[in-house]
Amino acid sequence: MNASEDIHKRRTAAVARGVGSMITSYVDHASGGTLTDVDGREWIDLAAGIAVTNVGNASPRVVEAVRRQVERFTHTCFMIAPYESYVAVCEQLNALTPGTFEKRSALFNSGAEAVENAVKIARHATGRQAVVVFDHAYHGRTNLTMALTAKAMPYKHGFGPFAGEIYRVPMSYPFRDGLPGADAAALAIGMIEKQVGADQVAAVLIEPIQGEGGFIVPAPGFLPAIAAWARASGALFVADEIQTGFCRTGDWFASTHEGVEPDLITTAKGIAGGLPLAGVTGRAELMDAVHVGGLGGTYGGNPIACAAALASIETMRELDLAAAARRIESVLRPRLESLAATHPFIGEVRGRGAMLALEIVVPGASGASGPTPDPARTAAIQKAAHQAGLLLLTCGTYGNVIRFLPPLVMDDETLTRALDALESVL
Ligand SMILES: *Cc1c(COP(=O)(O)O)cnc(C)c1O
Repeated sequence: MNASEDIHKRRTAAVARGVGSMITSYVDHASGGTLTDVDGREWIDLAAGIAVTNVGNASPRVVEAVRRQVERFTHTCFMIAPYESYVAVCEQLNALTPGTFEKRSALFNSGAEAVENAVKIARHATGRQAVVVFDHAYHGRTNLTMALTAKAMPYKHGFGPFAGEIYRVPMSYPFRDGLPGADAAALAIGMIEKQVGADQVAAVLIEPIQGEGGFIVPAPGFLPAIAAWARASGALFVADEIQTGFCRTGDWFASTHEGVEPDLITTAKGIAGGLPLAGVTGRAELMDAVHVGGLGGTYGGNPIACAAALASIETMRELDLAAAARRIESVLRPRLESLAATHPFIGEVRGRGAMLALEIVVPGASGASGPTPDPARTAAIQKAAHQAGLLLLTCGTYGNVIRFLPPLVMDDETLTRALDALESVL
């Protein structure tokens, strides 16, 4: 039995079955572009811990900042005895997120918690209750965020009842609906007005590029039209940038690509180089509408996570990781497109920056919602990729999307090695 098999046996007896793992090898250490397991096998990291280690694993500046902070103090609770680094992270979030208006931020532990708090703030600030979300959306696994998430299996199955006052409308999905952005937005808006009522909506919550739902990039014009409708209706436009944020799509935030300035924006994943931290950032008058003591939590904005966030942000600035994401796209996209040209089961190559995907379909077949998805082939590709040493993720409502989320510090040589391996896998 190798070391991973040994740990895996203990895991099966100790860890709840509901917590899955993509691979059965156990990690020993990791760096900018690779992970090494406890048996010494190297994996090319195309996952970045689900878009978290944008600055790479054990990034030097992050390691040093964490070490220094751990030695000074580990926790006081910002609601009890505050500290400067929490304030500094909020200043960075206010400065980096789209929109030049005055902003405030609050910090939490996880993406789901940030989304929950964005909904709390939106309801409090507007005095309304309805929250509009989209097909294929993913916003987390807590009770409220399960209700906001679209996909039943595995996220919601058997876990109800779910929170109320959540309404789902169609998402722009060009590969499947073929609609220009304005038409897709009109469809969604018509449904909101008829089925919810414009004056009932507290927030329209959307991922500017959907993550777990399939790396779905809405048609140009969709996001601005939805944002404009929200503004005109007194509803808040809330961008969930938990997966798209922090340079992933070639800019600090994906909303920027369409010139959209969200009223509230949720962040997590890439913010702190792997330490758990999340934020809600938004217009000062909305954020400050909540009474003192209405927001918080024991660990939210933990000092070690804040130190890691400040070091990560500094690293992103210094290494210009937004440009790095665009460079990764310039290496990946042409190769993926030429693979699509020779493999008819690749229905589409899409995404932006270092958030790219292949949608896998049955060649020539289609049904009511467009080209027929091929989740079985997708799973087979993923399995073969793992055998080839690629840490490759899938996603999508239909389980037929292969996604690429490399750390933004991955070098071209490693990227090319990954692409060569993928080509033989396909
Ligand atoms: C991952 C994710 C979440 C949930 O974040 P957690 O930290 O896992 O709670 C919410 N929204 C989006 C878009 C995500 O990708």
